Amino acid sequence: MHLSYTADQQDIRTKVREFALKEIEPTSGERDDEERFDRVIFDRIGELGWSGLPWPKAYGGAGADFLTYAMVIEELSRVCASTGVMLSVHTSLASWAIHTYGTEAQKGTYLKSLTEGKLLGAYCLTESDSGSDAGSMRTTATKEGDAYLLNGSKLFVTNGGEAEVYIVFAVTDVANKQKSYTAFIVEKGFPGLIFGSKEKKLGIRSSTTMELRFEDCRVPAENRLGPEGEGFHIAMRSLDGGRIGIAAQATGIAQGALDAVLAYGAGFDARSSEMFEAHSSEMATHIEAARLLTYQAAWRKSQGLTYGKQAAIAKLFASDTAVKVCLRAVQLCGIAGCLKDRKVERYLRDAKVTQIYEGTNEIQRIVISRLLLSEST
Ligand SMILES: Cc1cc2nc3c(=O)[nH]c(=O)nc-3n(C[C@H](O)[C@H](O)[C@H](O)COP(=O)(O)OP(=O)(O)OC[C@H]3O[C@@H](n4cnc5c(N)ncnc54)[C@H](O)[C@@H]3O)c2cc1C
Repeated sequence: MHLSYTADQQDIRTKVREFALKEIEPTSGERDDEERFDRVIFDRIGELGWSGLPWPKAYGGAGADFLTYAMVIEELSRVCASTGVMLSVHTSLASWAIHTYGTEAQKGTYLKSLTEGKLLGAYCLTESDSGSDAGSMRTTATKEGDAYLLNGSKLFVTNGGEAEVYIVFAVTDVANKQKSYTAFIVEKGFPGLIFGSKEKKLGIRSSTTMELRFEDCRVPAENRLGPEGEGFHIAMRSLDGGRIGIAAQATGIAQGALDAVLAYGAGFDARSSEMFEAHSSEMATHIEAARLLTYQAAWRKSQGLTYGKQAAIAKLFASDTAVKVCLRAVQLCGIAGCLKDRKVERYLRDAKVTQIYEGTNEIQRIVISRLLLSEST
């Protein structure tokens, strides 16, 4: 891994930082308060060419590497973690699944519009009794002629209601005792897809998180993503890559909290104290370690190397770092750190969620330890 950045990577980081400060930051607190998703932000990201960064130009993408993509998620999350997760789910989960498993027809119909920012993507795995244990999902897909009928519900769908394209995982071959899972591309507007209520959340409040219900939702057979029975594999592989996005998001949140502490101005006598030096230097050290772990996983993915272990390690470390750094940031700012109009309390709430989604950190420990054991045999 080269520990230097290309001119293109440095250039995009500067551009994203400028865009984030000018067009996202001014409304980030207000959107959080109002739990308001702003589609204009996604549209602008599309116009700037960042809604399909790692996908080939032939499919409307930018043909960039995953390190560049991680930097973009990090810089967006440094001012607004809700924007970071919106783009991460769109790119790493929804678009990735179609890029990797889609037919040419599916790529032409969906991937190009997703990467060009004309459509927004979402990923639907979690159910009421199926979070960490994804294998216990109950949503079914039954073949009927040239279509599948989907029945069941999915919870906590990021971009839910706003997205036009949903990657949905369901149980097929229902009669078989050995469950078989299959992935589908479901469009907003397919009859039988019903949007439930929007969740009111602790953090990332200006991203939408919604329940989806499927009542005899008719999905054309050509919208099956990958072969029947491959769904679980697709879901897990998607999450391997998704964790790079969440690690980048967590790194960005932590950096944003440190930025806020450093900028915290007049009257902050502690700035010159030994206590401040000790805390800020330790925060910066942990953030740098999280960043390098995230970039390592992204770099390995771009090189075609295995990256599941590195992505899980990065997600585990970066999300724990984000929570620790944000807690410290609130403490350093004292009472001001608790105020709603200060950024650090929002960053702390956003940081907490990164320890939960795309596999809780307890699940990351299981993933890492299993991969360590398999490597040692
Ligand atoms: C804001 C937000 C957005 C989300 N977006 C999406 C989305 O877009 N798409 C989607 O499909 N899902 C999404 N999710 C769901 C998320 O992925 C799940 O919340 C997560 O997988 C955990 O599932 P659970 O909440 O059911 O917790 P549970 O699985 O019920 O776990 C509860 C607790 O038990 C622990 N635990 C569970 N099993 C084990 C074990 N074997 N060993 C040790 N500890 C264990 C967990 O770590 C956790 O601490 C989102 C969640 C949130 C909060």
